[in-house]
Amino acid sequence: MEFNRRNILLIPLLLLATSTLTPLQSSSSSESESSESIIISRFQTYLQIKTDQPNPNYTQSTNFLTSQAKSLSLQSQTIELVSGKPLVLLKWAGTSPNLPSIMLYSHTDVVPAEHDKWAHHPFEAHIDSRGRIYARGSQDMKCVGMQYLEAVRKLKGWGFVPKRDVYLVFAPDEEIGGHDGAEKFSLSQVFRELNVGIVLDEGLASPDEHYRAFYAERSPWWMVIKAVGAPGHGSKLYDNSAMENLLKSIESIRRYRASQFDLIKAGLKAEGDVVSINMAFLKAGTPSPTGFVMNLQPSEAEAGFDIRVPPTADAESLERRIAEEWAPAWRNMSVSLGQFKQKVPVTDAYGKPVVTKTDSSNPWWALLENAVQEAGGKLGKPEIFPASTDARYFRNLGLPAIGFSPMANTPVLLHDHNEYLNKDEYLKGIKIYESIIKSFASFDEHGRDERFKDEL
Ligand SMILES: [Zn+2]
Repeated sequence: MEFNRRNILLIPLLLLATSTLTPLQSSSSSESESSESIIISRFQTYLQIKTDQPNPNYTQSTNFLTSQAKSLSLQSQTIELVSGKPLVLLKWAGTSPNLPSIMLYSHTDVVPAEHDKWAHHPFEAHIDSRGRIYARGSQDMKCVGMQYLEAVRKLKGWGFVPKRDVYLVFAPDEEIGGHDGAEKFSLSQVFRELNVGIVLDEGLASPDEHYRAFYAERSPWWMVIKAVGAPGHGSKLYDNSAMENLLKSIESIRRYRASQFDLIKAGLKAEGDVVSINMAFLKAGTPSPTGFVMNLQPSEAEAGFDIRVPPTADAESLERRIAEEWAPAWRNMSVSLGQFKQKVPVTDAYGKPVVTKTDSSNPWWALLENAVQEAGGKLGKPEIFPASTDARYFRNLGLPAIGFSPMANTPVLLHDHNEYLNKDEYLKGIKIYESIIKSFASFDEHGRDERFKDEL
């Protein structure tokens, strides 16, 4: 972070305005150590709030976030688009409110944890001797939510004033699909009035020194295929039984799965670039009091698959493959793609692939790259997120959204046992966000994605 003359002039004013700012300059290392330990303890406090699904303590998390906002002199608002599911919206007003705003997005909820499988209690936020902070949410994604706040705290302390409005959003229910939070919020009048130009949301940890950034995500298609056929005696060999028909499909699906997996194994494609398909259930057989009737070939058999389709894939040809190879009517098969979950389309509200551009048509991308570099970080090649995040709701509107959680040299432990983030990586991430927020908030061109501009 550069410390220019203009900032220095602004500082005395800010000091008068609020007494809770971080010390301006740390003259000694012990002083900076103590300010670091305060930053870490604030992170621990947030991690210690039990916001695990299915019963997150929203009262506590909302109170915590609102008190953070107060200490930073940010405007705060709690919005319940569905009663009992608060979304906390904080605002740092810019000097040119007509420019599209910046939305720093995170979710407060976390997935549950099996306490007994952890080395340290998942809601204790214990720091071990190597500086690892163990907690559910340390990677996904309370880290990011707090880093936004800490970066704002630093920037305010330095006297930085944003041109654009900066919004911080803490959503309630990403881990269960985001339907009562991000989805409704993205379609609300409140959101429209924010005039958002760019969204930052979550990414993934990176085991090497490069930070990962995501410009799209795969769409889940949950497919159930069903075969029917004449029942018969268990001793008889005949064609077209339900089991045989289903097995042929499973063999074909497995070949396809292997071909996609081989591309990853050979290093030709990243995880998010291929179509993944995994069997989730297999249901067949005629139950008997002791198990299954063994001398009977059943007349029905079905299997369920979790398919993830990148927006770069040819969705039509995949649908053809499903109809012709995996569930062909001529083999007495049927398919359902919306039984458990609506099939998520790979195109947005305007029929275009749901991707955020990472070329010159999207100025935010270049700003992000530069800002990360200026803060001493390295950015890897942009990727497609392998699973789903709330970012899709904003991309669906045609808005640029980048998935980014600054965690380098860190194993990917989201939703895993012993999820941790090293405190040094956490502190580095704050510097990265200082640089990004400063760069985004200073950018004074309109800054809309070209595509979105067409639609206005
Ligand atoms: Zn997450």
